[in-house]
Amino acid sequence: MNDSRETLEGASALALPGAGRYALRRTRVLGRTLGAPSGPLDADGFGLVDILVDEGAIAKIAPAGAIDFGAMPEVAMAGRIALPLFVDVHTHIDKGHIWRRKRNRVGDFRSALAAVIEDRAANWTAPDVAARMEFSLRAAYAHGTAALRTHIDSVGAQTRISWPVFAEARERWRGRIELQASPLFSIEFALDDSHMADIEAMLDAHGTGILGAVTYMVPRLHEGLTRLFALAERKGWELDFHVDESADPAARSLKAVADMAIERRFSHRILAGHCCSLALQEEDERRTTIDAVARAGVSVVSLPMCNMFLQDRETGRTPRWRGVTALHELKRAGVHVMIASDNTRDPFYPYGDLDMMETWREGVRILHLDYPFADWAPAVSAFPAQAMGLDLGVLRQGGPADMILTRARDFTELLARPQSDRIVVRHGKASSARPPDYAELDALFGLAP
Ligand SMILES: [Zn+2]
Repeated sequence: MNDSRETLEGASALALPGAGRYALRRTRVLGRTLGAPSGPLDADGFGLVDILVDEGAIAKIAPAGAIDFGAMPEVAMAGRIALPLFVDVHTHIDKGHIWRRKRNRVGDFRSALAAVIEDRAANWTAPDVAARMEFSLRAAYAHGTAALRTHIDSVGAQTRISWPVFAEARERWRGRIELQASPLFSIEFALDDSHMADIEAMLDAHGTGILGAVTYMVPRLHEGLTRLFALAERKGWELDFHVDESADPAARSLKAVADMAIERRFSHRILAGHCCSLALQEEDERRTTIDAVARAGVSVVSLPMCNMFLQDRETGRTPRWRGVTALHELKRAGVHVMIASDNTRDPFYPYGDLDMMETWREGVRILHLDYPFADWAPAVSAFPAQAMGLDLGVLRQGGPADMILTRARDFTELLARPQSDRIVVRHGKASSARPPDYAELDALFGLAP
């Protein structure tokens, strides 16, 4: 067999069998992403398997060469890596792609927030939000994402504009990307009865059972959290917070969230995003907080690209800190950890494309998610799937033939390149979806091409 020419060139979008039964021969799959053990693993944690695809499902996964599947079309993977589809648990598809009309003038958090508030008030009509959400989802889909959670700016009149738009998008994308959403507002708004009545009404009508807010050190933090926890308990909702997105070690709202979850014996999932200041606290304090987070069963998602962009930024001074939380220490303590995209081409982050391959590559570099590589690989698939309560992020017999085929054979080949030539396979077929053209957004901004 002439491996070098016959492999993924043969498995290009045109050559991958369109349907029916076919076999992916000698495919490298991370042992941790398999639903069941299948043969010995190499130094990076990959096993070598044959995958039988039948009518859009994975009919069989077996150690390479162990089973004769009989005569059928074959794709000679020759040790190339197949990944499960990605899960992106923390995004902002309601504010994505506004950069061309609303820049972040300075590049820091404060100016990002001010810019978004201005743009939201001026421009976020239902058609505007819908068009940008659709653009984001088309990009995420093309890059191989199977499920995505977004935060929805939910203050004032915006709440009743954005939630119906999200619900429509969720219906439209059903079967392609599983969508969840959490409301986003500063914790002080939880003290406002009319605000909370709006939130409850919109979540009842259009939500996905997740309540959330931005937590930071305000005098009435405990009272605000109490209100949110109480509402979530009454409704049976999960919680998803933006926590301590700050370089100030005195930002300690993560501890407040964990303590309250313990004290109230909160029984639904809680996800805490960012938690940046935890990395800058004194060792003892950090350890105490991490213990509480572990005991409370709070999961933590780090947003490495956005954190590195916004944190430790001062004009004329080189950053000394990468902006990310103490993810290794959290994981070692038994906390369920993961990474996600966060913002996309908006004042909080001018780059990104909801490509979890990029988030993974950057996450590995920024957070050292490579020793061992296999332990952290599920941080973009199986771990966030668990946090979303979804049975995704693994390749298993009987499951859908949804996967990403690459040319890489080990983790450096996988992470050295952006995997622009990856083949996203959905229900056994190579997807022809590509990220949308930026020019499609021109009309929203009243810009000439
Ligand atoms: Zn965020």
